[in-house]
Amino acid sequence: MKRARASEVIEALKERGFHYSGKDADGRFTLTGELARDASEHGIRCEVALDPDFFAIPRVRLLDIPKHFPAAVPHIGAYGDLCYLAPGSIVLDLFDPVGQTIACLDQADRVLCQITKGELVEDLVEEFFAYWNGPYCLFDVPRETSGRQHCLIAEGDDGLHWFITDSVGRTTKKIDLLGLKVTRSPPPTYRIKTTAMPRPNPRSWPPKTVNDILEWQSQLDRSCRRKIHERIQQGEREKRICILIFIDSPLMTYGFAVIYDRSKAKVKLADRRDTTFGLKVLLLTAMRIDDQYLAQRNIPGMQTLAGKRVGLIGCGTIGGYLAEMLCKAGAGTVGGKLTLVDFDKLLPQNLGRHRLGFSHLLKNKAVAMVDELQRLAPGIEVEAIQTDARQAVLNDFDLLIDATGEESLGHWLCDTTPRTVPMISAWIEGPGTAVRAMIRTEDVSAGCYRCLWHGNRRGELRSVVGDVPLVLAGHGCEGLYVPFPASVSVQAASLAMDLVLDWVNGKSSPTLRTRVLDTTRTAAAADCDLQPDAECPICRS
Ligand SMILES: [Zn+2]
Repeated sequence: MKRARASEVIEALKERGFHYSGKDADGRFTLTGELARDASEHGIRCEVALDPDFFAIPRVRLLDIPKHFPAAVPHIGAYGDLCYLAPGSIVLDLFDPVGQTIACLDQADRVLCQITKGELVEDLVEEFFAYWNGPYCLFDVPRETSGRQHCLIAEGDDGLHWFITDSVGRTTKKIDLLGLKVTRSPPPTYRIKTTAMPRPNPRSWPPKTVNDILEWQSQLDRSCRRKIHERIQQGEREKRICILIFIDSPLMTYGFAVIYDRSKAKVKLADRRDTTFGLKVLLLTAMRIDDQYLAQRNIPGMQTLAGKRVGLIGCGTIGGYLAEMLCKAGAGTVGGKLTLVDFDKLLPQNLGRHRLGFSHLLKNKAVAMVDELQRLAPGIEVEAIQTDARQAVLNDFDLLIDATGEESLGHWLCDTTPRTVPMISAWIEGPGTAVRAMIRTEDVSAGCYRCLWHGNRRGELRSVVGDVPLVLAGHGCEGLYVPFPASVSVQAASLAMDLVLDWVNGKSSPTLRTRVLDTTRTAAAADCDLQPDAECPICRS
């Protein structure tokens, strides 16, 4: 059936003047023909490669690059590949391979026509990363810092890895975790800021010498060009073998190495005064690995937990998953700190629904969780307090979270922690009947966890209509427990995490949130802003 469909597509392309030329090394059907035909029916020779399964869009490659095309052309890759659709922007319809393939080819034709007319040049900015190819350089530097940086060169089984950092200690932890060894004396590294969006120089690309770099930069940002030149001349005076320069543009950070090979440097007569012009450059691809970027990448435009002091009480089934999510949102980075409080040990009966596994068995849950988080995000500031929350000092936080699911502890925390510290509580009702989370804000006119308890007793603000079932399991020395799977804890942790992200972005409403998980039950209370209860002994006073 697949074969029949492929042959239909090939027939459709033949009607457009394409010729079948066989299968390529990856098993794709290839055809050759012309696209972007002009008035006299002359076009650009292209190869179209079809995925036999039609999961991928057809690959279109220019077989002849027209002589009048400049060195950098938008949407055309190093091997003549034409980028005519952003990956992931469309989903191919497996049931209409002919229609979809023709639509793709028409789009490719349109893009190529525009390129031929010299249009789409602005797209060179968007695509700049595709024109800046070199060895990877992993950046462990928050974006603000510029000037002199440290470079670490680490060796692994697969060769050398370059790291740029403003904190050798923090980055060394990351390098250790990757199983790499720091070697060699590092070259001096500089960062320079520019407001110019980079775009390749259409006349000569890629840059091969300092002269190419400087000429190109003079078209983009003259002050940046001057700073680059000064650093390169400084390297010359200091008799360096190599220096690294990274340019922070609003679009991306890109960098290059300058190689001071004085003996071989060919210097044009005109450049005699400054021997650095002829030096070779090696382009480097910068990839950010700094904590701010890792936390921000998936929530663009939102505040992260960077710089915040967050206390998490309870590292059980909810707290374990929540601790990991806090960490993913930047807790413990950029001067912030994450404190985990738990007196309990991780026992075999916990493993079926705990974030941690067998390797942490019999260890204190807070200590084990710190160990795990350090592995997930090396260098973060995270601390374990191995005591009952009632014995811990809990006033030095921007945010407190109670993930113990223990009602009486919740009341105690409301009573004893300062009202100026916002507190989020998350818990599970019944055997996974519902999950709930609430925030007690600094606002004294808002309700607390104890207020909700009073309301619930009178049948108000309940999670579901009717009573929540009391189900207990377990026997003997194991003790009684409420059975529910890990999926329930993950949803409680997620609900709490949404409140955390809302809080850090200045939004707390609705302060009480419920998700009913038992599909046979009806939700009772809609998400709302909890009001103080007249009976609450904490809010009443
Ligand atoms: Zn209250």
